[in-house]
Amino acid sequence: MNSDLKDMDSIGVSTTGWHFDNTYAQLPSAFYRSQNAALVREPRMAVFNHALAESLGLDAKRLAEDNGKFIFSGNDAPIGSEPLAQAYAGHQFGNFTMLGDGRALLLGEHIAPDGARFDIQLKGSGQTPYSRRGDGRAALGPMLREYLISEAMHALGIPTTRSLAVVTTGEPVMRDAVLPGAVLTRVASSHIRVGTFQFAYAIDDAAALKALADYTIHRHYPALAVAENPYLAFLNAVIDRQAALVAKWMQIGFIHGVMNTDNMAISGETIDYGPCAFMDAYDPATVFSSIDQQGRYAFGNQPPIAQWNLARLAETLLPLLHADIDQSLALAEDAIQSYPQKYEHYWLTGMRAKLGLLDEAAEDVGLVNELLACMLKHGMDYTNTFRELATEHPIHSDESDMQAWLARWQSRLNSQSASREAAIAAMRSANPAVIPRNHLVEAALTAAVEDNDLAPFEKLLAVLASPFEETPENVDYRAPAPPSRWPYQTFCGT
Ligand code: AMP
Ligand code: MG
Repeated sequence: MNSDLKDMDSIGVSTTGWHFDNTYAQLPSAFYRSQNAALVREPRMAVFNHALAESLGLDAKRLAEDNGKFIFSGNDAPIGSEPLAQAYAGHQFGNFTMLGDGRALLLGEHIAPDGARFDIQLKGSGQTPYSRRGDGRAALGPMLREYLISEAMHALGIPTTRSLAVVTTGEPVMRDAVLPGAVLTRVASSHIRVGTFQFAYAIDDAAALKALADYTIHRHYPALAVAENPYLAFLNAVIDRQAALVAKWMQIGFIHGVMNTDNMAISGETIDYGPCAFMDAYDPATVFSSIDQQGRYAFGNQPPIAQWNLARLAETLLPLLHADIDQSLALAEDAIQSYPQKYEHYWLTGMRAKLGLLDEAAEDVGLVNELLACMLKHGMDYTNTFRELATEHPIHSDESDMQAWLARWQSRLNSQSASREAAIAAMRSANPAVIPRNHLVEAALTAAVEDNDLAPFEKLLAVLASPFEETPENVDYRAPAPPSRWPYQTFCGT
């Protein structure tokens, strides 16, 4: 055991501000297994999120300086935590499997000073009863990647889990190569997934399913508890939040990469950053993940895949929707059928803002789709094209279709009562100047993992914290990737 560990009692963890209240552990026992984290040899803080720690009411200074590396490696459990691995199931690339936290532990729910409840989860903290053949570990690169992208998503205004810390373990993990091990501390409004409901349904325990549904409604949609049919209201609310979430992904060019049902959170937060990446040139067929051979989770497939996943959720709720199964099926069917309309609404609302359209006209859908068609045809950069539209001087293009589109857009802008300044302001807050460009993410992770140099990572993280600003410091971060001989590929890293 590490000698540093002995100091923990004298440091005293309770004064760092943890306030745990572990309601998930009150669910029927099938939903989890108690499990402690594996001790790691030499924990070292690689990245720590001061601002997030402070907003959670934690003593950021203490955690950063000495205490945190023990807590965030799993070597010491914060007072009041009851570590457990959560059970869940999921459709992975369409195939149903019983899963569970194979390399993660829920430490418990921390209550922030404002009363908000957050799951604190360690990822890469060792084996659990759900590890199957896995080692329960995580490598530094993928954990830094989740930290970076999740924090970037947060700054972009997209609901997401957050990242509090990455600690290196001083132990190797064996993948294709020997890699440095690390543990990520993830903060989420909960880790209840579509797959958690699939698990409850699969174990064929009506009481457990009802307990999970009631718990989730109480935790995430408390107003619905008094609805005429709370379970139907719950299904509709989850559908609504997912429609809103995926619309945001589409507006920003985000590709999740592995939209399995176990990676879809009931809260409506983006969760499980594996082979995710941002699209450069607009193309709905874009796939980065090396394991997504069929393009199931391609950029343009994300909206219908979300609906497919929501249908899997609806199936699990059938026993609760109505006493009569035919009525249940009809209610579930109606709810799922409402998704495309909800999605289109959120998508168009967001796309209007991206084009500076502050009122609504019937031609807007066509206007957006024509721009996307031009972008696809000419291989235009998704992020920068929208950002360039938000300049004081109308942009130029040599392409006749783009010229025609710009003229049409200008006349649409002139037709609205809002001023040009108001339109530009709306566009500048909807169209980011900086996103986590793949080549920059790779360079930052390579420096961190291969050269033990976190400076590029910290710099990129800082730039991504203000994505809607154009500053002299972020000029280089706004340029598209230099031409490359190979298409960009991401890996699960598990
Ligand atoms: P993911 O692709 O990260 O969403 O993980 C899918 C499933 O595989 C989850 O049940 C994980 O807990 C499990 N898993 C991923 N990596 C490992 C690992 N190294 N050891 C054990 N289980 C793992
Ligand atoms: Mg997952």
